[in-house]
Amino acid sequence: MLPVRPFVYPAKNSPLTCGEVPLDALAQKYGTPLYVYSADHILYRLGLFAEVFAGQRHLVCYAVKANSALAILKFLDRAGAGFDIVSGGELERVLAVDKSAAARVVFSGVGKTAPEIDLALRSGILLFNVESEGELALLSERAAKLRKPARISLRVNPDVFAETHPYISTGLREHKFGIDILRARAVYRAVARNRWIEPAGVSVHIGSQIRTAEPFGAAATRAAALIRQLRKDGLPIKFLDAGGGLGIEYHLDLPFHPEEKIRQYASALRQAISGLPDLQLLLEPGRFLVAQAGALLARVLYLKKNGAKNFVILDAAMNDLIRPSLYQAHHEIIPVAPRKSPRKLTADIVGPVCETGDFFARDRELPAVRPGDLVAILDAGAYGQSLASNYNSRPRPAEVLVQGKRARLIRRRETTKDLLATEMA
Ligand SMILES: *Cc1c(COP(=O)(O)O)cnc(C)c1O
Repeated sequence: MLPVRPFVYPAKNSPLTCGEVPLDALAQKYGTPLYVYSADHILYRLGLFAEVFAGQRHLVCYAVKANSALAILKFLDRAGAGFDIVSGGELERVLAVDKSAAARVVFSGVGKTAPEIDLALRSGILLFNVESEGELALLSERAAKLRKPARISLRVNPDVFAETHPYISTGLREHKFGIDILRARAVYRAVARNRWIEPAGVSVHIGSQIRTAEPFGAAATRAAALIRQLRKDGLPIKFLDAGGGLGIEYHLDLPFHPEEKIRQYASALRQAISGLPDLQLLLEPGRFLVAQAGALLARVLYLKKNGAKNFVILDAAMNDLIRPSLYQAHHEIIPVAPRKSPRKLTADIVGPVCETGDFFARDRELPAVRPGDLVAILDAGAYGQSLASNYNSRPRPAEVLVQGKRARLIRRRETTKDLLATEMA
């Protein structure tokens, strides 16, 4: 069993490491802000799926949008994972690491365009997760035109409430995602005789950062009931795509046991599909695989005081990691080389961007830091770099991947020249 995160202090007074690699050395070599990921940790989390779903046919289709670094896609591909994509761009990334991985790709998303559909048909992906009747009509037209039949799941909206942030909850009828599960049977029936559409699965995805197993069980139970009906209707439904959304704990002082969480998750899903022979489960984890394997390293630029309030100003900002600004998300922030003094400081930890919403933490107590010190913003491996922007004309951070004793650059820091390259003055 591995620790919850690969970022640990190997001994008292020694600097924070990722696996066996000291982070201060990485910051020295590659500069800050810097994303650091542990490949070993991601592969460990992937292995948990194989453990808890042993004996059940399944394929883990990693949700590329959580962290789309090519190097990460590459080792996940080598480990046999499939991919859940939500755009043509993500498909191009998967194809760039392995053309044959298309056979393990499922394509989700409410706004697929004709060029994206064509690319997916030509590359021979496993399944389209169709989210509307309009999309189904377009898919059928493109499939006929290219003479390439499309295997589909309807992404059904099971009307299940998942306790999470409203921006990342997707499984209620009022959300834009999926097709109302009560209408789904009629939609499947309508395509049953369409030779360019092969109904092969049912898919559900109820949201992200869901911390209990019950909503997954409830959604899968509804999807399984639909599969039973569809099989009675004579449709050869082989797949249940249970989506992603398995959550993690971002707080250091709250207990979290990934092994226990995933065991509960698996048992809820297994129970939902019991009695359905020859069903293959598709799973689309993103955050659970990569979030805790990554940290964002930043350097303290300034300390300042406005009235009674303290501010720690970092060289990283909301453009590098937007989760605190966007979702009021909590990220632990710890010093890379803790000082001996037990002094603490309560401060807002902010970036240089010209927005009051540019913060990583508010009124946070942390060990006293000084300008020049390094801090690690933990659990930044998911929805960090993949949501980064160039706001304030800030180049996006470099990324380093740690595997065993080795660390290597997997994306160089962007330059201002990169930023200006697409413009005409
Ligand atoms: C975002 C997304 C995922 C991954 O969600 P996580 O919470 O990162 O596991 C999986 N499937 C679909 C369709 C998604 O949109």
